[in-house]
Amino acid sequence: MREFKVVLFGSGGVGKSAVTVQFVAGRFVQNYNPTVEDVYRKDIEVNKEPCVIEVLDTAGTEQFASMRDLYIRNGEGFIIVYGINNYQSFKDVMLMQSAIRRIKRKKEVPIILVGNKCDLQFEREVTAAEGQQLADIWDVPFIETSAKKRHNINELFMEIVQQINKKNKKGSGCCCTIL
Ligand code: GDP
Ligand code: MG
Repeated sequence: MREFKVVLFGSGGVGKSAVTVQFVAGRFVQNYNPTVEDVYRKDIEVNKEPCVIEVLDTAGTEQFASMRDLYIRNGEGFIIVYGINNYQSFKDVMLMQSAIRRIKRKKEVPIILVGNKCDLQFEREVTAAEGQQLADIWDVPFIETSAKKRHNINELFMEIVQQINKKNKKGSGCCCTIL
């Protein structure tokens, strides 16, 4: 069965685990262990074919860059997350994107830039325009999510699957359904 291997990167506390668990299990975790790093699987349908999406929720505590590089080598699509309420986390995404580009060495790597915690409007430190601007420079899609409110969570994973599919089969679209 076709597997779509997706990796989440982003600094600690931006909500990588909350986004993953909300997608896979449909619930919001208030206090997830920040050191937990795990692989989750969920059934999906792509163009009516049963497939599996495999999500690697990294902990960002990779002591060795070689660990991170291994994740990049094995991954097909990358979700790079910052918190809209944390400007530093937005700055941190630069390094992650450049590591992916360096290791994949392909121009077209499926990447999505994500501003999570968009429910925290009053604590916002990064505007949607700033997120969009960076995504335009990278030439990747941009999306704001809320793991808490389950806003744009399925949409995010559907989009990354479509990106992976498109980049594998040069230009052909696909229809992805989350089961
Ligand atoms: P990680 O280190 O990137 O995996 O971050 P976590 O998923 O552990 O989340 C860190 C904290 O932010 C936890 O207390 C979560 O409950 C909270 N959190 C995650 N996503 C959201 C969100 O969309 N909105 C709000 N308000 N809090 C969130
Ligand atoms: Mg986590």
